[in-house]
Amino acid sequence: MFKFLLLVAVAVWIYYMFRRNPAAPQEPPVRGRDVPEDMVRCAECGVHLPRSESIMSQGQFYCSDEHRRKHQG
Ligand SMILES: [Zn+2]
Repeated sequence: MFKFLLLVAVAVWIYYMFRRNPAAPQEPPVRGRDVPEDMVRCAECGVHLPRSESIMSQGQFYCSDEHRRKHQG
């Protein structure tokens, strides 16, 4: 009898665990402003800047088009 009650208790507990999860507030997507962006280094002056703001050329990153030309020319 005790085992049966334990089984029921566990079943109810599992039921509530599964039921509760969908109602939990959804986590915002991982990608967002809280995630630090990849930082790259200018091959010419060495300044660090976000990858999205950098200029990539021939496998190198640059902080500006001017430095890209300076480094390659
Ligand atoms: Zn630079």
